[in-house]
Amino acid sequence: MRDFVIRSFALLLATAMIANAMNTDNNPLLAQWEGPYGGVPPFDRVQIALFKPALEAAMAEQLKEIEQITANPAAPNFENTIAALERGGRTLNRVATLYGVWGATMASPEYQAVQREMAPRLAAFDDQITQNEALFKRIEAVYNSPDKAKLNAEQQRVTWLRYTNFVRAGARLNADAKKRLSQINQQLAGLYTKFSQNVLAEETDQFLVLKSEDELAGLPQSLRDAAAAAAETKKQPGTWVIMNTRSSIDPFLTYSDRRDLREKAWRMFVNRGDNGGEHDNNAIITEILQLRAERAKLLGYPTHAHWRLENSMAKRPERAMQLMEAVWKPAVARVHEEVADMQALADKEAAKIKIEPWDYRYYMEKVRKAKYDLDQNEIKPYFQLEKLREGIFWVAGELFNFNFTPVTNVPVAHPDVRVWEVTDKTTKKHIGLWYFDPYARAGKRSGAWMNAYRVQERVNGEITTIVSNNSNFVKGKPGEPVLISWDDATTMFHEFGHALHGLNSNVTYPSVAGTAVARDYVEFPSQLLEHWLSTPEVLQRFALHYQTGKPIPQELINKITRSATFNQGFATVEYLSAALVDMKLHLAGDKKIDPDVFERETLAELGMPKEIVLRHRTPQFLHIFSSDSYSAGYYSYLWSDVLTADAFGAFVEGKGPYDRAVAERLRKYIFSVGNTVDPAEGYRAFRGRDPKIDALMKKRGFSPKS
Ligand SMILES: [Zn+2]
Repeated sequence: MRDFVIRSFALLLATAMIANAMNTDNNPLLAQWEGPYGGVPPFDRVQIALFKPALEAAMAEQLKEIEQITANPAAPNFENTIAALERGGRTLNRVATLYGVWGATMASPEYQAVQREMAPRLAAFDDQITQNEALFKRIEAVYNSPDKAKLNAEQQRVTWLRYTNFVRAGARLNADAKKRLSQINQQLAGLYTKFSQNVLAEETDQFLVLKSEDELAGLPQSLRDAAAAAAETKKQPGTWVIMNTRSSIDPFLTYSDRRDLREKAWRMFVNRGDNGGEHDNNAIITEILQLRAERAKLLGYPTHAHWRLENSMAKRPERAMQLMEAVWKPAVARVHEEVADMQALADKEAAKIKIEPWDYRYYMEKVRKAKYDLDQNEIKPYFQLEKLREGIFWVAGELFNFNFTPVTNVPVAHPDVRVWEVTDKTTKKHIGLWYFDPYARAGKRSGAWMNAYRVQERVNGEITTIVSNNSNFVKGKPGEPVLISWDDATTMFHEFGHALHGLNSNVTYPSVAGTAVARDYVEFPSQLLEHWLSTPEVLQRFALHYQTGKPIPQELINKITRSATFNQGFATVEYLSAALVDMKLHLAGDKKIDPDVFERETLAELGMPKEIVLRHRTPQFLHIFSSDSYSAGYYSYLWSDVLTADAFGAFVEGKGPYDRAVAERLRKYIFSVGNTVDPAEGYRAFRGRDPKIDALMKKRGFSPKS
């Protein structure tokens, strides 16, 4: 549910516009990365005007490399074909990394114009490679050669991946079909860009202005401060502004006593991309779904979902649906209980209301207080962003023997970004770099995510990884600590889990390094890390009161532990409804879809509790419409969480969360192997058996029978 891993532009990307190779000689974005640690990204040399010529020159360079591979008179073998591809595309990877960082964290209007132009061209470039017949013939020859058996396991898997990815991208189609496929991919790339830019526009242009003390009723001081700071950036002096992003809206819905304003804020947020006018995404969605359905048919699959899931751990949409349906009913049953608790409380207060979606978070907090005597605001003073960062470092030290040292000798994309060197505690060996970009700013995507700037590999000598964690905390006043919520802290651990997945990578070939695993497996390491936040070791050492420095009291920890399954009905249904809509949209085939009607009818069929709205309504569902990546794949978080809950059981059954032997198995079979082994096999090697769903149901407090 938390946010995603950005894959730097696969290895195969983007064209046919070699003509304009001017101005590239001095383009610093094309240069090898210089500096310490095997070179670092030259963020200080980026100018937006350099992106287009750099991308063009880098694409042209990669096409030349491929020409060299296909022109080789020697018979195709692993080394001269597959390994050659693994060695290639380096310049484009470097440029794409910088381009991607700007896209996710500093997308100014000037940048967005470049993005609109380049997205379809990068898609076309991708196709130009996968549709290169001479290249595919060589890959196929290596794949089918009896010599394949002599390759090591990683080489065999890389060969299989290259081959299957080419076939899945249409390498076997006839010329007409290939041409149509490439048109579809270019159209889709343009639509994805438009979709994302529309959501960003509605999150930026719309906000709720609070004008009086009366309108602030119920809001804690931290929220008032953030709203006052937001008012300054929005040039609304003397007011308080609630931004149209999750990190502003959720706390407002939780604390505002003003039901009318809660409804207003809720409507603004859930209608992003659905307001008619120039930023409306409905027509774009219809078009995307049609094109995806047509593409799946061209490629020989019944639906887009079948195509997407083929190489996932679930393998077939039916298996993903089965899991979602098994969890759906108990989760809905729990929601009805939660709503009954809230309604009872509202009645007791003589509120004279019926619980509506904009009441859920508000009454949920009241019930939490009533049932567990736990106030979320009591936790916050103990959750200092920087202390928790030290906490995640400590956990990484315990589990993986990592040490983190701040470095200042590398360029950053924005002054808020800080960098740490990661080394092995015992051998002092350099492992990688970790960039941390914690604060919200204009042009930065909302949410939190991990991104790899460079992956670990050793195909041409030892290359260490560079990873980053990104989030949208509101920057505090100078000298004041940033206090974060329990949910935010969980997200921090989650994203750091992705980073550790990258940092532990120990493979030879870059295409299978770190987080380059199946979509429904990639959230497993990250969700697993979330479990360490609530360990007493972390809370006692790092959950320190920002004024007194005292650790969080045991009594408060006990309350947190007792309430662990509180509100799991809401959290599960909010997420799962979105995952089900995603899958059903992509199982619908080429039926022309009106997103609004489809969403409404699907939810009615599912028996969606009317007090909850989808975590991502269709017109703003960036996971599935900003690229192909999580399309028909939002179920992945639940799929991975089955593994997560079951895997944490291995620690519980052992000596606890810091059991060194279990951690070593985790490193060996899960965190270090990237995509060099089949995930189901890797999991079995770690756990000694296949995953079971029981631990997940228990973690969420559901009875499997209800
Ligand atoms: Zn994640």
